[in-house]
This record gives sequence, structure tokens and C-alpha cells, in this order.
Amino acid sequence: MNTCPLCLSVQNELLHTNSRGDKYLENYVCDNCGFIYTYPRISNDEIDNLYLKGEFSMDARKSYKPDLAKFIQTETWALERLHILEQKLPDFFSTKKKCLEIGSGASSFLWLLKSRGHLVKGIEPDTNFVNVAIDRYDIDVDTLLFDENYKSEPLDFICNFHVIEHVLDPRIFVKNMYSILKDDGLIYIECPTIDDIYTKSLDTFFWDVHVNTFSNVSLAWLLESEGFLINDLFMHRGFVGVIATKGTELKYAPDSKERVLNLIKEFYKTNSKIQIKLSLKKRVVGMLKRILDKI
Ligand SMILES: [Zn+2]
Repeated sequence: MNTCPLCLSVQNELLHTNSRGDKYLENYVCDNCGFIYTYPRISNDEIDNLYLKGEFSMDARKSYKPDLAKFIQTETWALERLHILEQKLPDFFSTKKKCLEIGSGASSFLWLLKSRGHLVKGIEPDTNFVNVAIDRYDIDVDTLLFDENYKSEPLDFICNFHVIEHVLDPRIFVKNMYSILKDDGLIYIECPTIDDIYTKSLDTFFWDVHVNTFSNVSLAWLLESEGFLINDLFMHRGFVGVIATKGTELKYAPDSKERVLNLIKEFYKTNSKIQIKLSLKKRVVGMLKRILDKI
């Protein structure tokens, strides 16, 4: 049944049917909580093939294993994220922390945390990425998908970047993070948001591997509804970042379908103006060139 993965409502509206690679993909927006999700959902077997057997890395990461260019990119992003944490939470990492990154990819962020003296561990389903990251950084990474079977002693810090939009049940994912986080621990999540259509077209923004599309509101609301307190919510490189701890103060209501539809309407309005401006500029430049050529 076409059920919202966040609030279980069966009332929804078909929002968009095209996606990256010009593939047909149905994305729905929930009438009740404004969450955007794909339907039909892919199966657990397909998830295993995609992430444990390296298909995703080949398709999205462009290679079966990271090369130097990839490390240069992931290390740059990792440093930016560490600086964000240092600015927003200057004291948190002043003592040794136990840290876990879910979907640690090339493990560059963990490498930076390790270099500051923290205890780090990664979970990454793709063996090729795990092996190369171990060689480069000597970091402890488990080759698996994060689910309720994951056992860990209580952790101070759990992070994941561009992971939650891929998981079939994001509510369970959040619950699982909560269960292994210490009471005074922190989580840091980053993912795409409908509040900033970063590719500048819904046809490329939606992507079959992104089974969930959060908004700045729906991500915060999900976390709060599972016992987190939003410490900070901010934009970085066109993506939404959230830092949260355990707590009960509620600041977010569920998102609304109307707000999401309005965001998209406004996006089309502005974007078509940009397109018109660009084509006008091109035409004027072309005309001037032709005139100058004649002189
Ligand atoms: Zn919903």
C-alpha cells in the first residue's frame, strides 16, 4: 500500500514522475505531513544489491573504489563539516569522544576526528570503499547496513551524511541512532532538502536511489518525534544540516503539503525567470557579436 513512511497516512498526491537519468519514478507528497517519498519502494534484496554489492558506488560515486581525486573531494568536505562543528559546538570535542559514522564512504570525516584524538568507527556497506579507506586511514569500519541488529556500546557522537534519504524506513533509522546514543550525546545529519532544489531541476533532483526527500521541517519534525532536541538546523552547500541531542522540547510541527507545493511553485517561477534572463542575455550577446563582426 502507498503509505507515508513517516506518519503512515495513505492520503497523498503524485508530485513528480521523472528523475535523474531520465528514468520514470513516482514521488508522492503526503497530505498529512508533507513528506516526499517514492512509491513503489524498492525491496530489501534490491537494497542489498545496490549497496552491499557495489552497484551504487559504480553508479553514483563513479567508481568501484575511491581514487586520489575522490579522496581530495571527500577530505575537503570532511574538513568543512568539522569546521561547522567547531564553530557551532566549540566545547563538545574538547574531551575524547566515541564516534560512529553511518555510511562512512571513504572515511575521511572519521580520519579527521581520529586525528583530534577521538575514538572512531564507521559502518559502510561497500567492501571496496571499506578496504581502501582502511589502507589510507587505518580506521575500524564494519561492512554492513545500519539496522536494529547493530550492536554498540553507548556513543557520544553519531553522524551520517547523505544516507537518510536512501533508507527504506527513516523512522526506524532514527530510532536506532537514538538507542545507541548516550543521553548527552550528539547527532549530526546532512541530506538534500526540497527547500533547496540543488540541481535546479526536479528532473535531476529526484533520483531513484533517494527513496526519501526531506524538507527542513520534515527532517526536524521526524527527529523531534523520536526524542531528539534540535540544537541547530542550517544549510551547507545546498543541503540541510541538523545537529541534535536527546531532549523533549518541541519546536517543529509536521510539514504541510501546501508549503511543499508552494515551494515548488515558487521554484518554477524564479527558475523560469532565470532561464528567460539567460536566453535574453545570450540573444543580446549574439546580436552584438554579429554587429561587431560587420564593422
Ligand atoms: Zn506523512
